[in-house]
Amino acid sequence: MGTTLLIDWTRCEGRGLCAELLPEVLTTDDWGYPLSIREDRSLEVPPRARRYAEEAIRECPRLALRLLDS
Ligand code: SF4
Repeated sequence: MGTTLLIDWTRCEGRGLCAELLPEVLTTDDWGYPLSIREDRSLEVPPRARRYAEEAIRECPRLALRLLDS
């Protein structure tokens, strides 16, 4: 079972608050949009980072984030 961060690109406005809160998963591109830190571009959230992902979801000003458990 894994957890993946989903980004709604129709809502995201960049600036990268989520990347600040979740550096184990995200960095930002040159315009401040979130980008996976991994080479395969996966947005899988390790269990130890889940609470930070949940914080990013709460703090995202555009409500653009959610988690998918599979
Ligand atoms: S916090 Fe939300 S709006 Fe800001 S960059 Fe992340 S997903 Fe986009």
